[in-house]
Amino acid sequence: MDTKATCFVRLCRNPSASKSPISDQPLCEHHLQADLRRCENAEAAVADRIAHFRNYQRPLRLMQQRLASDMELLCDTFQDLRDSFEKCQAELTEAVNKHYEKMSESLATLAVVDELETEFRTAKNERNLRQAFLITENMDKSLESLELNSELVCMNEGKTEVTMAAFPDVNSMVRNLQMSFDMSLQLAQNLVKSLDIRASKSQSVPNTDAVPKQNNIQLSGTPSCLTVWNSTEGFALDGSGSIVGAKTATGGCKSRTKCVPQPGSEDIQIPQPATEVTETSQTTTKETQVSEIRQLPPKSILVAVDRSASEKNVVLVSFDSEEVGKVPGSWEQPIRDLHSDTKLQLLFIVQDLQLIIADMCGVEQSRVGVSDLQDDVQKLRCIAGDSDKLFILAERADGKPVIFGLSKKSNEVQLKLAVTGIDKAGARPRISVRDRMLFVDDGEKLHTVCSITGMLLASNSVQDKGKFDLNAELLRGNRNMAALVAQQVSSGFGTPYFGAAIKVPFNDDSVIEFSTDSRRCVAFDVANNSLRQRVFEI
Ligand SMILES: [Zn+2]
Repeated sequence: MDTKATCFVRLCRNPSASKSPISDQPLCEHHLQADLRRCENAEAAVADRIAHFRNYQRPLRLMQQRLASDMELLCDTFQDLRDSFEKCQAELTEAVNKHYEKMSESLATLAVVDELETEFRTAKNERNLRQAFLITENMDKSLESLELNSELVCMNEGKTEVTMAAFPDVNSMVRNLQMSFDMSLQLAQNLVKSLDIRASKSQSVPNTDAVPKQNNIQLSGTPSCLTVWNSTEGFALDGSGSIVGAKTATGGCKSRTKCVPQPGSEDIQIPQPATEVTETSQTTTKETQVSEIRQLPPKSILVAVDRSASEKNVVLVSFDSEEVGKVPGSWEQPIRDLHSDTKLQLLFIVQDLQLIIADMCGVEQSRVGVSDLQDDVQKLRCIAGDSDKLFILAERADGKPVIFGLSKKSNEVQLKLAVTGIDKAGARPRISVRDRMLFVDDGEKLHTVCSITGMLLASNSVQDKGKFDLNAELLRGNRNMAALVAQQVSSGFGTPYFGAAIKVPFNDDSVIEFSTDSRRCVAFDVANNSLRQRVFEI
């Protein structure tokens, strides 16, 4: 150390004692002590902060271990799930296939008998008696050992009729499983994604007995029935609130005749902003008109309303519970049921004596009358549809219900089912369809009918459903809506659902809609001459 050096601090002439750790310059004893104290203080502050952050270490490590364990478990559990799904699929398919093989075998045997019979007739016609005798002998032997009775198809005791077994709706069970699986996973995902202990500290305790917001939607008439319109893409509303085809890439109304809801509004485009001057196509009378074009909500409900004794309309209600527009045109006779096909963009309107098929702009495409259905049909009651068929529940003159399946392409009757076990249609019957299974609600029972064999597979009393009463649960305000619906769907009542919209046929006309964020569930139903909406925050 250079003893001649003096303190580096200005105006201090004291000899230097040592170098400062802060400035690395020589300082006298007094100033050195001051710098050393500053160093100590800084060290202590840092040590405090280190200790503060060290507090995180254990919880972080524990949480990390927990998450690592969960990831490992998820991997294993999903693998188990895949394994059991595959095993389940293989076993179930094998069981169904066993029956299928038996039917095929019996049919093949019958085909051989048919062949022999033809040969026998030929021999007889050719007066080849020897040949005919040999064939008869051969047939006698093979018929003796022929056994066509099986678990699924069997001659009845009185040997008067070959009856079929009500082969269970196994597909529905798997579908319900998928549905409750989706719901459970959605719930788990929401729990994982929305978890934030910082937020929950400032929030009040969640209200566990929340009641769904219920309101009766004001309509320009008395509602009678409804259907969900799942995708309004390609359509808009004109100034008068009527649905019109919007000129977009996907095209608008696919009507054979042109959709002309208002004269002079043929060339409609969705403008930005919402006001545009459109020109009429007639160049000779070049007049301009202001027409306000509004966009439609992406999904909505179509509701048939009675405006007066002779004027029935179909109005458009958004999921925000507002009447936003209407299908152009009006009908004189009461509308009993509606069905809309989003892919074909067709609206099916059922009246007592006819089915009217219109495009979404209300332009009639075709109609089917009761006389086209024959079978002594007196009245059409309700409809349901899948991607290619429309099912009509009709009533015969003797009061017995009969179900018709029509091709949506040709209106051709492809199926007629008079279901043994369903003897009456009831005051307000409802029908729905999923995966070739029909669900008929006659007000007392919910029947499951196979649309291929026409067999009644199950009949559940409406009272039986007890705890699965969705309306009651909605009113009671069960917060765990997703779990509830999953439970209900998996309860074996075969609740049909179509994409995001779930139609619950046994409670009036409830339509359950899960919004895309899974935070909201909306139910619509027509009851006591009003359209009721219930919004449930999940
Ligand atoms: Zn000094």
